[in-house]
Amino acid sequence: MSDCIQLVQKLAEEHRLTLAEYETLLRERSDALAAALREQAVRVRQAIYGNAVFTRGLIEISSYCKNNCFYCGIRAGNPKAERYRLTPEEILECCREGWTLGFRTFVLQGGEDPFFTDEVLCPLLRQIKQEFPDCAITLSLGERSRNSYQALFDAGADRYLLRHETADKEHYAQLHPASLSWEHRMACLTTLKEIGYQVGCGFMVGSPGQTERELAKDLKFVETFRPAMCGIGPFIPHRDTPFAEQSGGSVELTCYLLSILRLMQPNLLLPATTALGTLDPIGREKGVLAGANVVMPNLSPVSVRKKYALYDNKICTGEESAQCRGCLERRMQTIGYSLVTDRGDPKQI
Ligand code: SAH
Repeated sequence: MSDCIQLVQKLAEEHRLTLAEYETLLRERSDALAAALREQAVRVRQAIYGNAVFTRGLIEISSYCKNNCFYCGIRAGNPKAERYRLTPEEILECCREGWTLGFRTFVLQGGEDPFFTDEVLCPLLRQIKQEFPDCAITLSLGERSRNSYQALFDAGADRYLLRHETADKEHYAQLHPASLSWEHRMACLTTLKEIGYQVGCGFMVGSPGQTERELAKDLKFVETFRPAMCGIGPFIPHRDTPFAEQSGGSVELTCYLLSILRLMQPNLLLPATTALGTLDPIGREKGVLAGANVVMPNLSPVSVRKKYALYDNKICTGEESAQCRGCLERRMQTIGYSLVTDRGDPKQI
């Protein structure tokens, strides 16, 4: 225990640990260590971001996907998944509503839907940028070619969120079919950075086959890759996937990791994800109190929200966008934080 407290201290001061030290910190996890990490993480986050929490309006543009990730409810191989795609005009309408509500970042996320070619996306991105020049656009549309990433960037996309899912090649193969390669996903992240995007990576917590060893590798990867953002959330099984019977991740471990990530990279943009809120009614509050500084309320039309089902029991599927924002606003106020109307770029330190 006292050794581990020293590791917390070392992480807070040097912002890095060895792979073995990360693993030790994870294996020795206890309430006392979690509290020590949380305390430091909140102090560090407070010094940079104060009690401001950034918001991103999440627009789930398509539930069509050509991939077959074993964990995901909208995988191509799930015949029960309900499919929809928003039209560019519907997406713009979400942005308009979002802007009025105070969002200055729009996240366009979806399955890998061949409908959304560069020819469809680029004019849309230009239009969003033209109507909302004070807003940032984040894309989260999976793996694409370098040319495509470049074209989308040139059309106005500022950020790209592509979770690496796991930094361990063998573990990646347990979560994905052979048609998807770990090398390619990692190469995409490098390409995105080279192009000039603010890049987000990330991983699920508690995915099948994940041990402290894999998580330590994830931490080491984030430490060396230095993303602008890192999205982590508990794995939650979906009933119509090969992982239906697997157990899910925990809120406590996710919060523990959020604190470690905050200390590792003090200015990192760290969302308290919807998956946290799904597992625990106050999961997102716990995430912020562990060091997160971003929330991503749903801006999608209510009619499609249930259909964008990556996992079971997703929250906020019945609420209007204004209610989603208002609800999070109150939740954050309750714990002494406030949502800000801001693009929410990383602070340079
Ligand atoms: N198609 C895009 C967007 C994926 S959805 C892409 O490939 O990047 C965003 C994230 O949701 C995924 O990266 C994954 O980490 C997470 N996710 C998918 N299924 C999940 C599940 N069952 N439980 C928790 N998170 C899940």
